[in-house]
Amino acid sequence: MKSTKDIAALLDEPACEHNKKEKSGCAKPKPGASAGGCAFDGAQIALLPIADVAHIVHGPIACAGSSWDNRGTRSSGADLYRIGMTTDLTEQDIVMGRSEKRLFHAIKQAIDTYSPPAVFIYNTCVPALVGDDINAVCKSAQERWGVPVVPIDSAGFYGTKNLGNRIAGDAMVNHVIGTRDPDPLPLTVQRAEIKIHDVNLIGEYNIAGEFWHVLPLFDELGLRILCTLSGDARFREVQTMHKAEVNMMVCSKAMINVARKLQQKYGTPWFEGSYYGITDTSQSLRDFAKVLNDADLTERTEALIQREETRIRKELEPWKARLKGKRVLLFTGGVKSWSVISALQDLGMVVVATGTKKSTEEDKARIRELMGEDTVMIDDGSPRALLKIVHDYKADILIAGGRNMYTALKAKVPFLDINQEREFGYEGYQGMLELVRQLALTIESPVWEAVRAPAPWKVKNKEKSLFESPHPNLLPQGEGAPTLNSAVSNIDEEASNG
Ligand code: SF4
Repeated sequence: MKSTKDIAALLDEPACEHNKKEKSGCAKPKPGASAGGCAFDGAQIALLPIADVAHIVHGPIACAGSSWDNRGTRSSGADLYRIGMTTDLTEQDIVMGRSEKRLFHAIKQAIDTYSPPAVFIYNTCVPALVGDDINAVCKSAQERWGVPVVPIDSAGFYGTKNLGNRIAGDAMVNHVIGTRDPDPLPLTVQRAEIKIHDVNLIGEYNIAGEFWHVLPLFDELGLRILCTLSGDARFREVQTMHKAEVNMMVCSKAMINVARKLQQKYGTPWFEGSYYGITDTSQSLRDFAKVLNDADLTERTEALIQREETRIRKELEPWKARLKGKRVLLFTGGVKSWSVISALQDLGMVVVATGTKKSTEEDKARIRELMGEDTVMIDDGSPRALLKIVHDYKADILIAGGRNMYTALKAKVPFLDINQEREFGYEGYQGMLELVRQLALTIESPVWEAVRAPAPWKVKNKEKSLFESPHPNLLPQGEGAPTLNSAVSNIDEEASNG
């Protein structure tokens, strides 16, 4: 089990912007604060996308159920990460003191059945409370079967989801990164005229396969991605992360400790960026060239940016005409609180307010830069507060995480999911096309007109006789056939004519 000192050290992350305010470190957990994601949840979310690893949750089955597959991350091959594995501890196991034994057998079963390159063990509240020594079990299983078994001590009561992300990052730095060198560059991909650089992405989760929109640009520029921690990653890639020439932090808070520690341990410089929106995608590519200090790469990057921006702006034109001036309430956190603003502004949309509950001070500064000093930043994500802002600022759409979906739908407000559960990838230049398509489909959907119209049973007078006959949608179809909407509007018209 982690000591209070270990947890305090993780919370007191020097690279985190929270440390630059009056308080030191991130907030300590308060009772009930794990609602919305405990430390275990955060750790598993951060590492589950490593697709070929056997991820075993050591604890009662409910812990595994709460976090398995809750991120729409995609893999280009291996799919072992999609198999939920747990030691499924029961009361009997705890009373009889056999939980460590169950863990040992679970590791054996995973190795025998799937031959994974590594096994990750996530500690949860119950085994941490009874004092299971997961480090010792992992060490002995590794010696016995010769497969790396990595302990991730992430009991939920240690703190919040963010702390869990850091615990996960810490486990990678301490147990995995630096244990193997990258493969030599295959002769077939070497190009005499350009120098290939090795880079990493940290905090990129390949939600809905969105990073595949950006990947071809890296190939073209000669940037070899040793590892994306952790979207579509493999264990052997994580092992080589120490050899990158530069790291990019894609999500501002999750695993910031990995970037800092790799700089400390291996001297790898890092920068923060995003692939949402045209401006930010171009900036991130430019930043790679800048940090790598390669004049030829800079020149090729600028040419690529110009070509891609021209192409995508032309393709976006017809969509922009449909979305221009539409008002958006954006309620998301972290890097998306500013990077999506920039993507929406690229489309000529107006962001009336943005959520900053999970944003750092640096995120907020960027929001002010994009939206001006008087921008509305929302911390209160309650349904009442969100709907009040939608109403007061006349927003045409709410863009937020899945948990706000029913708030919007019940209020008949168009809603687009922007968080990890979403089905569509919005990264890169190509992702902008998907974003505009989804925005237009959502805002222009005929369903809003239908649900905002008065309910048939509330329309007085003549509709009674109409709705006593078969439902209008069941009446004969075809030209001139009545539909529910036309029937209702006819009734309204007749009623107003007296
Ligand atoms: S680790 Fe603890 S807080 Fe998290 S889901 Fe399991 S029991 Fe709940």
